[in-house]
Amino acid sequence: MPHVVTQACCGDASCVYACPVNCIHPTPDEPDFGTAEMLYIDPSTCVDCGACVTACPVGAIAPGHRLPEDQRRFTEVNAAQYGENLFVGDVRFPVNMAKRLPLAPVSTPAPLRAGPQHVAIVGSGPSAMYAADELLRLPNVSVTVYERLSLPFGLARFGVAPDHTATRTVMKLFDDIARHERLRILLNVEIGRDLTLDELRERHDAVFWAGGAPTDRPLRIPGTDAHGFAAATSLVGWYNDHPDFADRRFDLSGERVVVIGNGNVALDVARILAADPAALAATTISPTALEALQHKKIREILVVGRRGPREAAFTLPELIGLAESGISVHADPADLAGVDTSASDITEREKLALLRELAERPPVGSEDGAVRIRFAFGLAPHEIRTDDGRVTGVRFERTAVAADGTATPTGEIVDVDAGLVLSAIGYHGVAVPGLPFDPKRGVIPNDDGRVMDGDIPVAGVYVTGWIKRGPTGFIGTNKTDSAQTVASWRHDVEAGLLTAP
Ligand SMILES: Cc1cc2nc3c(=O)[nH]c(=O)nc-3n(C[C@H](O)[C@H](O)[C@H](O)COP(=O)(O)OP(=O)(O)OC[C@H]3O[C@@H](n4cnc5c(N)ncnc54)[C@H](O)[C@@H]3O)c2cc1C
Ligand code: SF4
Ligand code: SF4
Repeated sequence: MPHVVTQACCGDASCVYACPVNCIHPTPDEPDFGTAEMLYIDPSTCVDCGACVTACPVGAIAPGHRLPEDQRRFTEVNAAQYGENLFVGDVRFPVNMAKRLPLAPVSTPAPLRAGPQHVAIVGSGPSAMYAADELLRLPNVSVTVYERLSLPFGLARFGVAPDHTATRTVMKLFDDIARHERLRILLNVEIGRDLTLDELRERHDAVFWAGGAPTDRPLRIPGTDAHGFAAATSLVGWYNDHPDFADRRFDLSGERVVVIGNGNVALDVARILAADPAALAATTISPTALEALQHKKIREILVVGRRGPREAAFTLPELIGLAESGISVHADPADLAGVDTSASDITEREKLALLRELAERPPVGSEDGAVRIRFAFGLAPHEIRTDDGRVTGVRFERTAVAADGTATPTGEIVDVDAGLVLSAIGYHGVAVPGLPFDPKRGVIPNDDGRVMDGDIPVAGVYVTGWIKRGPTGFIGTNKTDSAQTVASWRHDVEAGLLTAP
């Protein structure tokens, strides 16, 4: 039985280069690589050699016959991508006409002609570590990584949920990179506090800013200053033992939590709040969070989207992971009735099929003592309801969702009681003193990684990761992103452009 890519896939494409028969797609050279929710193995081409299994840093690939029960659905998910139709972006190819680019070659770069270079990288998250890895392939480059926290690897450590144990093993790969003899990591050094950007530029030939997008996108409705409202960023930091959130406390004594937003982070926080604390005890969860969760009174977590199920922001692998987690998960049949899937791609159709299955599952009530997660769609948050400065719930306005996915308020009010309300509508970058910033997108303006001040490149300063492209994509997406920035830097070094004229 062919091999299968499963939930932990973080899209770094290492498997693509290992496969001798080019059956793992999309490859980084294919147009839909940047938007794919994971990579998929073509079951009709796979020769079961197993080379991809050892190449995968997070153990996301397994032989089909050895898949555990909760991962079996991924056999269909992989095969469906190579079924009667293959989508490349919006273009549909019958499979026998499917476009296949040649297998990407693995090349060893030639040494720099410009002589030895010492590069500073600010941050030690995935984008920083992939950039360092790419830079260190050049024999005459050395790298110093500056990290403000006492532990490295950014959101791979402080974002990825503690029960996503396979995904968290990517830190072993970063540990390997960190051991390179030409790499130094300086922890507890914040650029802007302990050293200025100018000082850094004086000490190095180039600076790569890889500081991520650390804040939440604000939810601009009344009541968000009340006790019992929080951004998911702080709950994630709290359960992952991030030092900035160690003192946060969350009131888990109410029966219902509302999570506003339905991306993968919303699913993470809902799953951690619903999980059996005994199961979480075996993970890297913070002891303070575990203790609080052991005393929770929560019975229901409502995950709410402004638009319809077709527009749900979570990815299919994460929905499968939640549906197979043993937690009671439900969708409302009324939300799914009449949803038109004719224009949807394969992944969207599979997502809706699974939501329909969840809608058919018999509801488990609080009388059973189980905590359940319930999806609700077509509800736009209007205000956080409060009493004496404390959250009592959320006032939503029902929306009508058009075929193109736009949501229009209908005027119908829906009140939901809750003791805790979490906003999970996305992360956002913050401005770096001394560098240009696009406040709307929360990114540092750049041209393929070169920091741009209007039309003029800021000599010797580059950017990668979430602060370069915005808070989207998986851990592995940062690998191709950082490779692009390193290619821009290399071009500039060879062209003698690193210092301002
Ligand atoms: C809650 C959550 C869960 C996620 N789960 C998954 C998952 O399961 N699978 C997956 O593939 N992807 C997941 N992701 C996405 C993944 O974490 C990101 O794609 C990735 O971490 C972005 O990398 P980055 O290097 O740009 O930023 P970050 O990981 O945020 O790293 C930035 C680093 O820079 C440091 N820094 C910032 N400013 C300074 C400064 N001035 N001086 C020194 N250091 C500084 C920070 O402390 C941090 O260590 C998740 C993201 C979130 C938010
Ligand atoms: S088992 Fe071998 S042939 Fe099959 S996807 Fe993996 S590397 Fe390719
Ligand atoms: S994590 Fe990387 S190596 Fe593993 S399956 Fe996904 S793309 Fe392939």
